[in-house]
Amino acid sequence: MINQPIYSLVIPIYNESENITEMYRRLHHVMAQLDGDAELILIDDGSRDRSLSMMRELHHCDNRVHYLSLARNFGHQIAVTAGLNFVQGKCIIVMDADLQDPPELILTMIDKWHQGYQVVYAQRTSRQQETWLKRLTAYLFYRILRRLAKVDIPEDTGDFCLMDRQVVNILNSMPERNRYIRGLRAWVGFRQTSVPFARDPRFAGTVKYTFGKSWALAIDGIISFSTVPLRLATYIGILSAFIALFMILLVLYWRLSEPFSPTIGYTLITISMFFLGSVQLICIGILGEYIGRIYEEVKGRPLYTLKETGGLKDNSNIT
Ligand code: UDP
Ligand code: MG
Repeated sequence: MINQPIYSLVIPIYNESENITEMYRRLHHVMAQLDGDAELILIDDGSRDRSLSMMRELHHCDNRVHYLSLARNFGHQIAVTAGLNFVQGKCIIVMDADLQDPPELILTMIDKWHQGYQVVYAQRTSRQQETWLKRLTAYLFYRILRRLAKVDIPEDTGDFCLMDRQVVNILNSMPERNRYIRGLRAWVGFRQTSVPFARDPRFAGTVKYTFGKSWALAIDGIISFSTVPLRLATYIGILSAFIALFMILLVLYWRLSEPFSPTIGYTLITISMFFLGSVQLICIGILGEYIGRIYEEVKGRPLYTLKETGGLKDNSNIT
């Protein structure tokens, strides 16, 4: 095993067997250009294909490659969290396995680290070959989040980033379960900067972030970093009070100006019942999102369970 490396590369992997060889080839090339030792930490997030056996093979052939295997699929954010708990380097880089994050950009990020930045995040200037729906929803989400969140979370940034050991130590000390890493990374502070990049298409395989997973991540991002939705109930309540007042005036006007028609009364009652009913259900739903998360946190279960490790020990307490 090599001595304590300077650079740690953290890569979450979920059924990426078609990408692993090419990813390793490109990273190998980049690692050769680094000014210090590097380690590669691959996290198997409960893959069901050959990913884990390929990781074991790489670990045997190259002593810089280590791996972790989670006991089931815990999701991207938890897989990254697990990797961060085991890194040994002083400068940590997180990237995807599908080569959408070009490994060569790591060199530019490291330049910034040498200039004294503790966080360098890659900011997407374009997303090639992603569907218009994904691009539109991503565009809207990042802007809504920015308006709602108390922390300044940069737009169009993913988890592809470089972090100094200091920042990773803080992330490791955060016990929260709902880990929206790009938000937590912004929350930490220190000197942060961005490097622009064009997001490449996937090298191979299909997207692992299904619509459901992306939606869950988006909700996590908003709920973890903003309490504005809770205030929504108050605003909607005030609004519906005004609507009710307007309706009272309307009914009075009808009673005074025309002969009374009972059908208008029924229609109004039905509409207002449905309207208020749905407003209340929406507000209970929003409350539920927060309460559900409080429940998750209170249970205090470990963030993940490990099935196998290759050449690693928990380093979340390194200073
Ligand atoms: N990933 C993971 N667990 C999951 C889903 C994804 O570890 O449950 C990994 C995946 O293997 C990839 C990265 O997270 O390395 C990003 O996934 P993907 O390319 O599907 O998402 P996108 O590029 O659309 O953000
Ligand atoms: Mg991808």
